[in-house]
Amino acid sequence: MNKLRFILAIAIGKILILFSRWIGNQGSNFPGKMARRVYPGILRELAARITGRIIIVTGTNGKTTTSNMLAQIINQTGASLVHNQAGANMIPGITTAFIAATGITGQKQFDYALLETDEANVPLLLKEVKAGLILITNFFRDQLDRYGELDYTVQVIREAVKGRGIDLILNADDPLSAHFQGLTAVHCWYYGFAPGSYDSYESRESREGRYCVICGQELQYQRYHYAQLGKYSCPGCGNHNPSPDFTGHGLVMHPAIELMVDDMLLSSPYQGFYNAYNIVAAVSAARLLGIEPRYIQKAIADFKPRAGRMESFTVNGRPNILILVKNPTGLNQSLAAVMENPAVKHLFFALNDQVADGRDISWIWDADIEAIETDRKIKQIVCSGIRSGDIALRMKYAGYPADQLIIKSNLKEGIEYVTSLEGDVSYILSTYTALFECRKILLSLQKRSGAPAGKVPVRG
Ligand SMILES: [Zn+2]
Repeated sequence: MNKLRFILAIAIGKILILFSRWIGNQGSNFPGKMARRVYPGILRELAARITGRIIIVTGTNGKTTTSNMLAQIINQTGASLVHNQAGANMIPGITTAFIAATGITGQKQFDYALLETDEANVPLLLKEVKAGLILITNFFRDQLDRYGELDYTVQVIREAVKGRGIDLILNADDPLSAHFQGLTAVHCWYYGFAPGSYDSYESRESREGRYCVICGQELQYQRYHYAQLGKYSCPGCGNHNPSPDFTGHGLVMHPAIELMVDDMLLSSPYQGFYNAYNIVAAVSAARLLGIEPRYIQKAIADFKPRAGRMESFTVNGRPNILILVKNPTGLNQSLAAVMENPAVKHLFFALNDQVADGRDISWIWDADIEAIETDRKIKQIVCSGIRSGDIALRMKYAGYPADQLIIKSNLKEGIEYVTSLEGDVSYILSTYTALFECRKILLSLQKRSGAPAGKVPVRG
């Protein structure tokens, strides 16, 4: 090891991190990339200073929420941690996270590293860091077109972990996570849900990912917990869910999530079944790390939804989640949360331009709305508020199909319309001056549809 180049690479990385913060750039791939040019082995060497375990969190949906929850649990214990941020989850971004955390000589030691990364990046990452634990949230086909077929991705991960001394944590309810142990000889731990009152016996989702990984026959589902996740068996070869090592049960979703994981009671201000899965995943990893229940319970209870208020209203038996949006960053985060939910969904967007909203609405053009184009589960977008036409135009330019865009400038008409649509969930996005009115309309619709009212806490 060339000590001088190593220290030079860290110094350059640290200067570039300061510089990109100074210019207000949150994207943190560049410093890591430049440091790697100076000293290509930098990630390998910094990762070798982790005294405990290196944990990788991957999967199609929920990896950001799950890894943030796990980070909060680890922080709660007082242990030290290197953790990359969402959006910087490829090798350069992960390198940046290590450089930011270490001292100028690169000698600082940490108890854990918690690395969130895309599925396709796992083999590359394993070449540079000695991971002890890999958590895979699920394999959903939706947003995977970037890398080609989902089955190929599953295959790539299997090959990458084969024969390594790693603990894998997998979703027992996801048929594509089955049979990993048999094919890789890696020790697999499974988490999943026991049968519960939110299950259904048929699915509204497309049928992808529903074939047996062993013999290819179509699976038979006894019940669906969520999307493709559920209790299944294969009529061809008898393949069925592995029995979970960590079981979620007793789930209550309103007004907020409450559930048991084995004998541990957890409550969270989060909403939605997919977040209940994220909690069970994070808790399973924490248990495997040997973390005491009191730290886990406290961290999950304190973990705040990232996209504003996320208050949920039940109308016609379905959740409607209210989110305040006021700038491009907040809108990007909100849309990321929307897209992280693989359910069939609708958006409602109330855009006002009063003084409290900011008279200039050009910020909607700075937000990365183009991202929604990849999410085919957003079935309709209802544009509302004083500047409903502007938000409709923005959506159209983002590539969203015009025939699924509806303009209803009147808030009440718009919300009544979106809550009447077929689907699993609606997201009600609103700028500041329309927010109070939207909330009032949702509360009255909730009351009218007979759902529990008045108990919905406001969070912010
Ligand atoms: Zn089979």
